[in-house]
Amino acid sequence: MLRIRAGSVHPVTAPPIEDGAVLVDDRGTIAAVGPNSLVPTPPEARALDFPQARLLPGLVNTHTHLELTHLAGKDAEREFAGWIRTLRALKDATSPEEFSHSAEQGVRDAWAAGVTCVADTGSTGTPLEALARLGGRGIYYQEVFGPDPTKCGASMAELEQAVARLRRFASSHLSLGISPHAPYTVSEPLYRAVAEFARRDALPLAVHLAESRDETALVRDGAGSFAEALRARGIPVTPRGCSPVEYLLRLGVLEHATGWLCIHCVQVDERDIDILRQAGVGLAHCPRSNRAHGHGTAPLAAFRRAGLRVGLGTDSVVSVGDSSLWAEAAAAGLDGEDALRMLTLEGARALGREDEIGSLEVGKQADLVVFPSTILHRPPPPSTALLTLVAGRVVHG
Ligand SMILES: [Zn+2]
Repeated sequence: MLRIRAGSVHPVTAPPIEDGAVLVDDRGTIAAVGPNSLVPTPPEARALDFPQARLLPGLVNTHTHLELTHLAGKDAEREFAGWIRTLRALKDATSPEEFSHSAEQGVRDAWAAGVTCVADTGSTGTPLEALARLGGRGIYYQEVFGPDPTKCGASMAELEQAVARLRRFASSHLSLGISPHAPYTVSEPLYRAVAEFARRDALPLAVHLAESRDETALVRDGAGSFAEALRARGIPVTPRGCSPVEYLLRLGVLEHATGWLCIHCVQVDERDIDILRQAGVGLAHCPRSNRAHGHGTAPLAAFRRAGLRVGLGTDSVVSVGDSSLWAEAAAAGLDGEDALRMLTLEGARALGREDEIGSLEVGKQADLVVFPSTILHRPPPPSTALLTLVAGRVVHG
């Protein structure tokens, strides 16, 4: 057993407790939380004391690309389509061992930043392997690409093979999902096939959606730099006359999508927001990435008014340079308890995990983090967690 006492304890679902404590049982769940004087002190429990610090639920990062950790600062391309091309070349030049080390570093960086659950998308499977090897929590979505409709079968075969290989890494703490990457890299038949596969095999699904203006131009008008690049490769482009969100609705991808994750959602209007709400999807809001690529600002206030489940995501370090969720909260205009709630319970809700994680409550998983007391009002450098626990196990500090 482990007993942690801190200057303040923030359950999120209850008011902060001055001089509080949390007792973690041997199954890795929270056995007690409250004022220090009321939390039991079993003689066998190891005691840790942080009188100057805050004890919080572990943070939830709803969008990462951990396999790209080694590429931080390596892609200086400013225009988005060019940035993606450069990223693809950098990935092509990466060996399997480098991806493996990169993903492992990404997991350790997340823990050092107080993140105890990630929703990660990748194409190599190494983030899921690293999380399994190191004892992390999260969802890993295996990406599938294929803008050419005639190559849908080959893309699906590759995806099904990858899923068959990666299934053994899934556990009570780790889920395997799939991700048809984005409207400019996935053909119409591939979207349909991937969504059907997800439903048939009960796999969670994540999509990058309504991110750039060029994506909207491609879907609505068959124009813009993505459209030109596809045509240059001999791939037909069809103007859909609707927004990217409505396009996925028409394809059936947003049917029975409860618990699925839509990433970015910057280029959306009220009707799109309504479609997303009715679909029951969670959203990953990535304000620093959207800003870095010049996509604009996602309407967070409108999402929350509509009752959408929204968490914050850092996206890859190639886009934003580090994996600090506190910096994302600041970029979203949040601070204090509001920021804390968004980074914990709301993130857990966006991933459909709020029954397990996201707050300090008896019976929930002991995913905990201790931060310096300034944390709620001054975004810190990325690696400032003093102690991080996943399911009651110390993984950092
Ligand atoms: Zn992304």
